[in-house]
Amino acid sequence: MSFAPKNNIFSILKNSKPGQTVRALGWVRTKREIKNVQFIALNDGSTLSNLQVVLDPAGFDMELLKKINTGAAIEVEGVIEESQGQGQQMDLKAEKIKLLGEADPEEYPIQPKRHSMEFLRELGHLRPRTNTFSAIFRLRHQLAMAIHRYFDQKGFYYLHSPVITGSDAEGAGEMFRVTTLNPINPPKNEDGDVDFKEDFFGKETNLTVSGQLEAEIAALALSKVYTFGPTFRAENSNTTRHLAEFWMIEPEMAFFDLEDDMDLAEEMLQFVLKEVLHHSSEDLAFLAKRFDDEQKQKPQNERSPWTLIERIKFVIENKFIRVPYDEAFQILRNSKPNKKKRFEYPVENWGMDFQSEHEKYLVEKHFKSPVIIYNYPKDIKAFYMRENEDGKTVAAMDILFPSIGEIVGGSQREERHDVLLEKIRKNNIPEKDVWWYLETRKFGTVPHSGFGLGFERLMVFLTGMGNIRDVIPFPRAPKLAEY
Ligand code: ATP
Ligand code: MN
Repeated sequence: MSFAPKNNIFSILKNSKPGQTVRALGWVRTKREIKNVQFIALNDGSTLSNLQVVLDPAGFDMELLKKINTGAAIEVEGVIEESQGQGQQMDLKAEKIKLLGEADPEEYPIQPKRHSMEFLRELGHLRPRTNTFSAIFRLRHQLAMAIHRYFDQKGFYYLHSPVITGSDAEGAGEMFRVTTLNPINPPKNEDGDVDFKEDFFGKETNLTVSGQLEAEIAALALSKVYTFGPTFRAENSNTTRHLAEFWMIEPEMAFFDLEDDMDLAEEMLQFVLKEVLHHSSEDLAFLAKRFDDEQKQKPQNERSPWTLIERIKFVIENKFIRVPYDEAFQILRNSKPNKKKRFEYPVENWGMDFQSEHEKYLVEKHFKSPVIIYNYPKDIKAFYMRENEDGKTVAAMDILFPSIGEIVGGSQREERHDVLLEKIRKNNIPEKDVWWYLETRKFGTVPHSGFGLGFERLMVFLTGMGNIRDVIPFPRAPKLAEY
């Protein structure tokens, strides 16, 4: 076509004045005809709002106009006019239209109506074209950028930890094996076992469950680092809170104790949520409306006590209440639902791990604030967490959010070589696999701390989506790896 600037729809809607010639490219959301005028809602994903294209069919080829249907891609050049209709400020009065890509209306599955999330999950290649998913993916970007901004401002270095790992010591979950051996006829050693010496790396390798151990190495040189990358867990957990592939943010700081760790996590979560609330108000308002409509469908006792925006502000505006495990345990044991046997998992014995029903009770009913539980019984936590003086607990902390429960898990790390070595032996972790980790405690060891934040868990909280599979572009879960 011609030489009008090729701006995206976000900037056309934001910056153009009546009389200006512009060129817009995008996908047709709807087309209507009223009194011999056609209205096309055009969207290019740069904003939730559509650009309304207005055209007089008399000036265009009939065959071309017939092909402009929901899902088709077009290029339009024309003049900006003040809109006569309601719902938008301006229209684009079309002068030239080019069809870039057709979409057969008989076949195109996304209609201008509300589809169920289950239906759209089967259409991972097309669901980004809906209002809901384009809003989610724009928010995902904003949230990721806010996280990078936060750490950058705080003097952290972004560390790229490996996706393929030669250590399975972390013990955070079941792992996916990485191999180039032929599964039908793998090489065997003298004992008849698979001979991984013949494998690509000459040893067993897996997809990482966490970048923490590598981040610790870096923190013991650069002082403050964070990772932000994909992590993998092969657990067969078909829940609305678990993915087999998810993104994790793992800051790791030398010279930080557990309290510094909690301060950082709290400040960071409040910062990033505030940023997104500020930068993405249009997308959030759309999802807030969606959340509201969804709550109305639910029985009274299952409805959220907050609107989506209230729920976000609840975290931004409240100080996170910090309670030792001991105290949280007493509160739960003496709670009404526990006494009336309304918890699925009764709270009886010190040392038990809390379930999400307990976490929700503490956050929503008892404290009415985000909660950080710290100093957990050592038997339910990982080997690398620093043992406290009492000999029973470790310097661990979990951050609990309303509706979703655990969002962050962190700890001060065990920096004493002898204590760590004993823990490694007790946990039957082969020393030959973690010799490098142990050496960091031999040469210039210092107190240090860190935590892991599940990016998609935070996205679920931010967007109000009911299922974690709907906040990642291409979810990976048991029996689910299409695309
Ligand atoms: P959970 O008990 O909820 O399964 P976890 O204690 O196993 O989680 P950690 O190993 O502490 O999880 O991981 C740190 C963070 O990563 C968690 O706080 C959570 O936000 C997130 N996370 C853990 N597992 C998953 C998963 N399968 N899918 C998405 N996010 C996850
Ligand atoms: Mn955890």
